[in-house]
Formats: sequence, C-alpha cells, structure tokens
Amino acid sequence: MHKNMFEIKNLPFADTALEPYISQNTLSFHYGKHYQTYVNNLNKLIADTDLADASLEAIIKDTNNNPDKVAIFNNAAQVWNHEFYWNSLSAEKSEPIAATMGLIEKSFGSLEKFKEELAAAALSQFGSGWAWLVSDGSSLSIVKTANAVCPISSNLKPLLVIDVWEHAYYLDYQNRRADYIKAIIDNLLNWDFVNKNI
Ligand code: MN
Repeated sequence: MHKNMFEIKNLPFADTALEPYISQNTLSFHYGKHYQTYVNNLNKLIADTDLADASLEAIIKDTNNNPDKVAIFNNAAQVWNHEFYWNSLSAEKSEPIAATMGLIEKSFGSLEKFKEELAAAALSQFGSGWAWLVSDGSSLSIVKTANAVCPISSNLKPLLVIDVWEHAYYLDYQNRRADYIKAIIDNLLNWDFVNKNI
C-alpha cells in the first residue's frame, strides 16, 4: 500500500442535478473517467517518491514549473481543479452575500460586468483550460489558465472556476463553448461556495 493514496471525492450533488445544463452523460464521463483517471495517475506517479506523504496543495506547489515533474504537476493540479469545479456548480439558487457583492462591485463595477468578464475569459481561453475568479487578498480578478495550471501556484486564492476543456461540454454542446459558459453563468454558479471562499 502507498502511504498516501488520494481518493476520489464524491460529487457534491447527484449526477442528474445539473440537467438540463450539464447532462448526466457528461458528468458521468467527466467525473467517472476524466477525474478518476487523474486521481489514479497521481497515485501511481507519487508512489514511493518523496511526495508520497505530501498534501495535494504541497504537491502542486512543489512540482509547478519543474520540467522533471510535469506529469505529477498535471495530474495533481487536475485533481485539485476538478474538485474545485464540482463545488463551483450548483442547481440550488444562491446569491452573493453583501461582502461578496461589495468586492464584486469594487473589482468589476457590477455583477453584470463580472459575468461578462468571466464569460469572455472562459470563451477566449485557447484550447484546454480554466476560467477562474480569484482574490489577491484585497481585490478580485478573472484569470484564465491553460491545461492544468492552477492559481494556487501563483499564490492567488481561487473563489470559483469554470472548466473549459472540451470534455466538460462536448457531449452536450459540441463546439458551442459559449452556450455551455452561458448556461453555467446564468444557472449554475454556486454563490454559497464563493461566499465561503471569500
Ligand atoms: Mn475537466
């Protein structure tokens, strides 16, 4: 047995909960195949190495930009990113609390402007990646990252994320990434999670 086997975490909702915006078919592949594979690969890659007992965050920070540890970084960051993505989504109605709304208005001008910036970043990320709402401690911003890159490597605190890898939407939306992004922003943003992260 490896000392530190990462385990697949349960989805925070039923795999049908995000329908019709994200189908059970998409979620079952995304969670059961893509995410599970990142967890399995990470466990294989760190077994019997000096990272075998490290936390997921420590592994990501330790392997970031290390050309000898690209595969470990990619799989560790993808585990972290996916767990953060599941929590960023909810079909339950939620709202920004006053403190969250204050930061949104200070940083973006308005909630509408924030949504426009998030959608633009998610749409314009070329190829696979992620669109994030992050905090630098005093204000909020939108960042997009390629492939597995995760803002915790640059000491930014993630508050929310949208997965824009094609596997996140292709079964439901094919090439229409903009429609997938709009469906999330209009219907599935988990403000309770953002409020808690702020
Ligand atoms: Mn994904």
